[in-house]
Parts: sequence; C-alpha cells; structure tokens
Amino acid sequence: MIKSVSILGSTGSIGVQSLDVARMRGYEVVALTAHGSVDKIEAQIREFRPKFAALADEEKAAQLRIKTADTPTRVLSGREGVIECARAGADAVVNGIVGIAGLEPTLAVIEAGSVLALANKESLVTAGALVMKAAKEKNIPVLPVDSEHSAIFQSIQGCPDRKQIKKLILTASGGPFYGKSREELKNITLEQALAHPNWSMGAKITIDSATMMNKGLELIEAAWLFDMDPDRIEVVVHRQSIVHSLAEFSDNSVIAQLGVPDMRIPIQYALTYPDRFESPAAELDLTQCGALTFTRPDNETFRCIDICRKALSMGGLYPAAVNAANEKANAAFRRGETGFWDIQEEVGRALELNLPCGEYTLADVLETDRAVREERQV
Ligand code: MG
Repeated sequence: MIKSVSILGSTGSIGVQSLDVARMRGYEVVALTAHGSVDKIEAQIREFRPKFAALADEEKAAQLRIKTADTPTRVLSGREGVIECARAGADAVVNGIVGIAGLEPTLAVIEAGSVLALANKESLVTAGALVMKAAKEKNIPVLPVDSEHSAIFQSIQGCPDRKQIKKLILTASGGPFYGKSREELKNITLEQALAHPNWSMGAKITIDSATMMNKGLELIEAAWLFDMDPDRIEVVVHRQSIVHSLAEFSDNSVIAQLGVPDMRIPIQYALTYPDRFESPAAELDLTQCGALTFTRPDNETFRCIDICRKALSMGGLYPAAVNAANEKANAAFRRGETGFWDIQEEVGRALELNLPCGEYTLADVLETDRAVREERQV
C-alpha cells in the first residue's frame, strides 16, 4: 500500500489532479517538480510541505528558494534537481512532465525502486526498450496514467496470459477537427486547435489531440506497455470520450473501461492498484451520455497515426526522431511561427532520416532528439 508520493510536473494538468488524489488519499508528498511556475509550486509547497522541490529553470528556482526560505522544503534546480526529486524515495512517483524532458526522470524513478505512475508518454515513445528493460530488471511496475492505457490495463486484469489478448483498441475523441476536410481546415488558428471537445489538458497535448499525433504517440506507448505488436493495436474515433479504450480476447470477447472524462480516475488507480477507493471524479450516468458512437479515423487527412505506426515498425531511433519533430513543430505552432498542417509534414519528414534501427542507448536517444531539433545530421 502506497503512503508517500512525489509528483513530477506538479503545476501542470496531471500534476494538479495528482495532488487532488494525494490530498484525498492522505499521502505524504516527498517531492514536487515543475518547469518554472514559481507561484503555483510555492502554493503547493506551503500546502503539502514536501522534503524537496525543484524547478528546471535555474533562475526561477533561485526565486523560489528565497520565497520558500521559511519552509522546511529544500529547493533544487535544473535538470539534475528534477532527477534528484525523481529518486527521492517516495513509494510511488507520478511522472506528469511534458515531452522527452520526462525520460531521464522516468529512468531515475525506476533506478530508485519507486512505483512508476507514468503519464509522460514520451518516455516510452522515445526509449520504450530502455524503460521497459530497466523496469523488468528492477522489478518495478510501470503503471499507466494515460486514460486509454489505464483503461486497457483495467480491462486485462484477470487475463494473466498475454497471448490470450488478440488486440487492443484505443479510442480517440478525434479532437476539435474531426469530420472536417483539409480544404475546410485550411487556416486553423491556435485558439481553434486549443478547443478540445471533452478533455481539459495542457496546451502541448491539446494540440497533439488536434493533429491526432497524441493517438500516434499512444499507439507506440501501448505497444511497449503491453508488449503488443503494432498491427494488433487499432484506433477508433469515439467522440463522447466515455469508453476510454478496450481489449479484445481470443474468444472475441471485448472488455472496456468506461467513466466520465476525469484524469483523477486513472491517476488514482495507478496509485492504489490493485485496490479501488472513492474518487473525487463524478459518477457515470449512462442514461445521460446519449448515443456512444465508434468510427474509423480519417488517416488520409490526419497522417500522424500512420507515421507513428511506421516509425515503430522501423524501430530503433525512429520513434525518438518522430517525437522530436513533433515537439519542435507543436511548440512552433503554439508560438504562432508555423501553420497547423506543417506539424504533420515535419513529423513525416523524420521518417526520411537515415537512422540506426537496432538497439540504442540513452545517449543515442538524447542525441537524436537534439539533432532533429537543430535540423542537423544525426
Ligand atoms: Mg490519452
């Protein structure tokens, strides 16, 4: 039974909801980390009084150190400070960091022997082989926080033999632009792309949902988490976001997990697994959800799912390259420096790089990430 947690990315959407769960479950909070939100993390420090806190931004960390001098919390800084918080020895660590910045902290959590509640999908996308191998060697459970993966994880409880799972079905809301043609969507603004129909999330993942890249990343994440061949992972568009994903078994039985779209359900399940407790999330009223629909995604208009599937089958450093291209283009779109459709063009171009397809090291992954961002030869 978990008694203490650390939250990486504590001021983001996942972090704040993880602290809701920690508050409700009465967990001791050992460490909190964020990128640079001084005021938000200061308020969290005052409420939860962790042993450690870290801001990745050095200057902001210096400000935080002064502001929280009257608290017992030790404020660390930079990438090293975040990693130190990851290995501060909580029973479980929620990794809600955005992007490949979460990879080294993920490995640090495993190294330190804490249960890993993983919301940072990019850890598995960029270095799934390293993360899963380290977790296996240390016998550390990697518990999914991503709602689709939590749904699958919940659906396969009671099926100890993975060979009996025929396929995984990831549901996608389709984002704000589902059903529209490329012609209709010529001049998408940032505001339109940020208007997600069902989920309230951080800006990066909301744009990933609008491009469908989020589902591509989740396909790679599912392949690693559940040791599943990519051609046995299907994506269906489910506009209502009530069925969070499904597993199909050898006898053609399909088991799904349903609930209101509230991340506190999967966060809590990762922390209390295999037990369940009361949740701050609302009850699902089936008579109020209306019709539940399931359709094929439009992979001609939105190419990111196919690009990610291809990157995964090419193997090696291709998923890391595709992820780096996406992180770069996604951020450029949010700064107003590039168009919406340039994102998937950039992501697709990463497949044309000449990269090794075999085994890789952490240094290889980080170097590939840097090279793609700097547009130089890997
Ligand atoms: Mg998800």
